Amino acid sequence: MSKKIAILGATGSIGSQTLQVVDMFPADFEVVALAAGSNVQLLAEQVVKYKPRLVAVMDETKLAEFKRAVAGLDVEVVVGSDGLNAVATMAEVNYVVSAVSGRIGLVPTLAAIRAGKDIGLANKETLVAAGALVMEAARAYGVSVLPIDSEHSAIFQCLERERQAVERLILTASGGPFLGYTRAQLQNVTKTAALHHPNWSMGAKITIDSATLMNKGLEVIEAHWLFDMAWDKICVIVHPQSIIHSMVEYADGSILAHLGQPDMRIPIQYALTYPQRRANPLTKLDLVGKTLTFMEPDRETFPALQLAESAGRRGGTMPAVMNAANEAAVELLLQDRITFTAITKVVELVMARHQVINQPDLSQILDSDAWAREEVLHTAATI
Ligand code: NDP
Ligand code: MG
Repeated sequence: MSKKIAILGATGSIGSQTLQVVDMFPADFEVVALAAGSNVQLLAEQVVKYKPRLVAVMDETKLAEFKRAVAGLDVEVVVGSDGLNAVATMAEVNYVVSAVSGRIGLVPTLAAIRAGKDIGLANKETLVAAGALVMEAARAYGVSVLPIDSEHSAIFQCLERERQAVERLILTASGGPFLGYTRAQLQNVTKTAALHHPNWSMGAKITIDSATLMNKGLEVIEAHWLFDMAWDKICVIVHPQSIIHSMVEYADGSILAHLGQPDMRIPIQYALTYPQRRANPLTKLDLVGKTLTFMEPDRETFPALQLAESAGRRGGTMPAVMNAANEAAVELLLQDRITFTAITKVVELVMARHQVINQPDLSQILDSDAWAREEVLHTAATI
């Protein structure tokens, strides 16, 4: 029986690559619903090719254009946040790929879980903002949350063999485009340089997060929730080649690692076909001639990693605030309104002002998120 899938963020980097994986196994998957933000041209092309029955467009100003592009096709078009939720909870769907960028993915992902859908999770901000709520819901509704993020897919695969006597999870980080830079050098980097990742081609927000190392901080929090692992047992190591995607160290000193080409279609495929491992036509990793190197992350030059880790340990609404502040600050960088190093400065100042609510419910998390975004605007104007 084919899996009936919905993709939230269909027009993005992960969304498009998910559709490429579907193309590799056409008999196994039926794309029944798609959701996107504002790229209605690409979305319309996807509708023509995959014939989903339900499609959500977030940007209402693009609705008329989209409807013209799909006129005559048998597809229901919905709009805005309600539309996104409708795609996430559509009755026919049994598997939702959560791949919008940012905290906006939280509510539909939670709705999909509560509707009993298994989740392929790329949208790490969902777990950063509300990891406790999301994983609790997944347990209560008996759904699987399968990691798409390459580090977490790697750890998931290493842990499959053995979950006992785990000493620590070792998340690998490429180090981003500014690996080896000093603080002084970082002051002058441009947005364009930050948007140029050495190993991966991804959406703008995660690419900036990779340059500040915030991405790795978000991934530490993601790993904590996905694998129910104590903070002290999650560590980060820089591995510039991005060949080892992460590792698990066991009590006897053995380390299991997952290696592969830096190609997101590999972890996307595993999340979609799990528990099966299927042959695919993708380029395989040839290790001959490769050198693998490792080093400590530079936490002083890239304070975002530490900020995220401390937010995770503090818990309550702090990770949601840290995440929202980061999203808002990255947006300001993308609009050329702040510098690269200001991102982490702003996040730190907003976190320092936050009155944490312990064990928050969803509305308290969303309120804290909104508060943090407002604070970023005030703070950014003062630095
Ligand atoms: P992109 O920016 O490439 O794509 C984001 C997608 O979300 C697009 O389809 C976009 O639509 C849609 N979207 C954005 N805002 C909204 C909104 N308000 N409502 C509805 N849809 C919206 O991001 P990526 O694919 O790179 O990343 C997606 C997620 O996956 C992120 O959480 C990221 O951290 C995670 N991830 C990504 C990896 C990668 O290799 N790209 C690797 C590991 C994790 P549109 O473009 O039509 O406006
Ligand atoms: Mg990753």
